[in-house]
Amino acid sequence: MSERFEAVLITRDEEKRQCVAIVELGEDDLMPGDVTVAVEATTVNYKDGLAITGKSPVVRRFPMIPGVDFAGTVIRSSHRDWREGDKVILNGWGVGEVHYGAYAGGARVSGDWLVPLPQGMTAREAMAIGTAGYTAMLCVMALERQGISPDRGAVVVTGAAGGVGSIAVSLLARLGYVVVASTGRTSEEAYLKDLGAHEIIPRDELSGPARPLGKERWAGGIDAVGSHTLANVLSMTCYGGAVAACGMAQGMDLPATVAPFILRGVSLIGVDSVMAPKSLRLEAWSRLAGELDRRKLAVLSSTIGFRDVIKAAEDIVAGRVRGRLVVEM
Ligand code: NDP
Repeated sequence: MSERFEAVLITRDEEKRQCVAIVELGEDDLMPGDVTVAVEATTVNYKDGLAITGKSPVVRRFPMIPGVDFAGTVIRSSHRDWREGDKVILNGWGVGEVHYGAYAGGARVSGDWLVPLPQGMTAREAMAIGTAGYTAMLCVMALERQGISPDRGAVVVTGAAGGVGSIAVSLLARLGYVVVASTGRTSEEAYLKDLGAHEIIPRDELSGPARPLGKERWAGGIDAVGSHTLANVLSMTCYGGAVAACGMAQGMDLPATVAPFILRGVSLIGVDSVMAPKSLRLEAWSRLAGELDRRKLAVLSSTIGFRDVIKAAEDIVAGRVRGRLVVEM
């Protein structure tokens, strides 16, 4: 990490108008923390898109360096777990929201927030997975805890061509599930089939108002979309099934009835990656290292440069990004 480095900085004026610029900073400008990391790769998640465009109040302290996740090398540490040269990953914990985040040459954070980069995984691969992929794995783990094994029936993934969706499809297929992929981009059928989807359904089958109960179509679901889509997914879940909800690309609302819960014993499981305990993070990253097909990871990710982050933020919020974007520093 050089003494001076570039950073994306979000500021606000007196009228609360947001401004985003690339500025030059030094290590002394970083916020307090007991570990300093040279950021080697980061990524653009939907949440980063919301932060940079200001479409949702993700950033809660100004000025702010956005970017909710990174992979890099420890260059200074007074934390018991980390030493200079250690390869680490950070996801969430308010980084890029209330604590200076990933879009900078360096980051100073609490050592408690870091997990080790799994053996055999590069910083680039870790960020091709990123918070979206780590969340997809948390969703898979949540379904497994509810007993949704491949023999129980299909699993639907909504927002399938997005980041969480693409990794969820790949993981589920690798684990032997029959995957139904819901997408607004039916032109991505070949892409989703290559990741392992068995069936592609158009997004609009699920995006209108839901009936209390629909035809039973899947044993489980991973939903990155929320709103009517999640309500439809629940109403079409088989008796005793479960749905892991992690996103809100369609909306924060949930216009559903209790019918799937009280008449079919369906479970709705909330998944949060930001404050997830360390034990879950370690399990998720260890499983991602062992169970995610690296060829598929290469297919679903593309690389952009640091200066492309602001444009990529607009693209992801507009639904124009397929799979995952890696930012190489
Ligand atoms: P992406 O933008 O990569 O994926 C979202 C996908 O949702 C899009 O690609 C699109 O898929 C679909 N979509 C977009 N707009 C709509 C709409 N209006 N109606 C229906 N579907 C829509 O984002 P990420 O994968 O990074 O994140 C997905 C969601 O998960 C976000 O809401 C994000 O905030 C949330 N998230 C939550 C986390 C947590 O801890 N709970 C962690 C990470 C993400 P397609 O083109 O296939 O239809």
